[in-house]
Amino acid sequence: MDSTQEKLVESLRKALSRVSMLAEGNNPELDAILQNIRANLSKADDPRVVQSALKTIEPYILKFDDERLERAQAFRNALHEMMDSLEGLPDKQLPLSEKKALEADIRAHWQSVSNWPSLLAKTTILIQTTLASPPKEPKKNIFTRILGGRKAGKQSDGPTSPEIMAHVSHTLAGLLTNIALSDEYEEQILDLKNALTGNQDLNQLPGLLDEVINLILIAVGKTQEDLTSYLSQLNKQLASINASIVNNYKVQKNISTGRKSFGDELKQHVVNTHSDVNNATDLDALKSLISDRMNTITETMTRYQSKMIEQEKHAAQSISLLRSKVNRMEKDASSLRNDIQQKIAQAMSDTLTGLPNRAAYQDAIFPLLTAASQSKQPLCMAICDIDYFKMINDNWGHLAGDKVLRIIPQQMQNTLKSGHLLFRYGGEEFVILFPMSTIDQAYETCQKIRQAIEVTPFNMNGEPVSITISIGVSLFDGKESHDELFDRADKNLYQAKADGRNTVIRDI
Ligand code: GH3
Ligand code: MG
Ligand code: MG
Repeated sequence: MDSTQEKLVESLRKALSRVSMLAEGNNPELDAILQNIRANLSKADDPRVVQSALKTIEPYILKFDDERLERAQAFRNALHEMMDSLEGLPDKQLPLSEKKALEADIRAHWQSVSNWPSLLAKTTILIQTTLASPPKEPKKNIFTRILGGRKAGKQSDGPTSPEIMAHVSHTLAGLLTNIALSDEYEEQILDLKNALTGNQDLNQLPGLLDEVINLILIAVGKTQEDLTSYLSQLNKQLASINASIVNNYKVQKNISTGRKSFGDELKQHVVNTHSDVNNATDLDALKSLISDRMNTITETMTRYQSKMIEQEKHAAQSISLLRSKVNRMEKDASSLRNDIQQKIAQAMSDTLTGLPNRAAYQDAIFPLLTAASQSKQPLCMAICDIDYFKMINDNWGHLAGDKVLRIIPQQMQNTLKSGHLLFRYGGEEFVILFPMSTIDQAYETCQKIRQAIEVTPFNMNGEPVSITISIGVSLFDGKESHDELFDRADKNLYQAKADGRNTVIRDI
């Protein structure tokens, strides 16, 4: 090695040794390596020692660079968060131009550690300017609400910076107590809490915030995976509970309105849990909170289920009772209906002959008149009266008379066609209605009836007796009243009697 080369190696050795001193204090692991490198560099003149030192140090330098970038990002984020907090103050105004200037400064210089003090100083000025700004509106702001107790009677003045700082510090210290970190961070947390407790210096806020944020990032990062799987499992459970509540609610909603409150209670638990889960930052606290909630939900579900079973049993009993009641009622109604129909039929029919009686005639005649009137179809009426019936009773007795009264309608029915209606109008008088029949058709049928009766041998005490009937027939003219139609038939009957009986007389 010539003297020029020796001089170069010597310069490199010194430079490396000094630069290594600059890098010290950032990471204990790196510090140890740097000290070792410096010790080797001071002992040897060999250029390979310099080369090997550079090789050893390279990955640590790269790692250090990454960490420096992360820290710078955390610092930048802390500054932005601080500005956001200032902007969120309900009765203070963040000056827009200063805010924009600081944002530009942060954008340009956040990566360079040497610029951090100046950025912090500018941030502090912005905080002071904002706090000194006139209130947007006179109502109490969040800090006066928080600090109101200590500032009774002076609320309109607003809190001072040290008061805000003290409050923020207190909150941050409380936050540190809740985060879950391994023992290796215990000392760091304690130092930070001491630095925060009672600290009223606003200028220290960014740095302290930065440290708190870093610790929280570490805490969250380590448990992220655990938390994610736990939350997804929890979400599934909540979804299934929710589904079963919804399902149960749907199935049961028509049975009892009283169950609604159970559904609401459970839903509220689920909603509360969701919201608590969203707000929680600490896994241990979250786990115990969720465990409590699950217990409450389980208890409520159990209570709900047993209540439901009870109500279902009750409802089933009620339904079965109701069903048998309904069945009984249906049977009662059906037998009542039959009774009534029977009574109506009885009321409408004549017990001696079994024919529809005068009431049935009254029910039948008026609709037929209306129909005939509307359809312009003919409708005829015949009134039949047994000739000298009084004499039959007198000669052979009343029972013989009854027998004749039963036989005559049977003979009439044999001659009548479907659609013709026969009634026992009263005593020994019968009425026949001929819907859709001309007077000729009705007259012809009545003649056949008269002849059939005439030739029927009635057995009276062993001797055959001839019995006859007289008939008056009338044709409905389409507009006359029932009485007019009936009277005409009756007059024709009267005429038939007058003409010697066993006769049919019709309208001309
Ligand atoms: P005419 O030829 O003029 O019709 O003479 P008639 O004897 O039939 O006349 P009348 O109307 O005077 O007599 C009717 C009789 O019918 C009187 C009544 O005792 C009898 N009668 C009415 N209803 C019944 C009954 O249900 N059974 C019996 N056996 N007789 C009855
Ligand atoms: Mg009569
Ligand atoms: Mg008679």
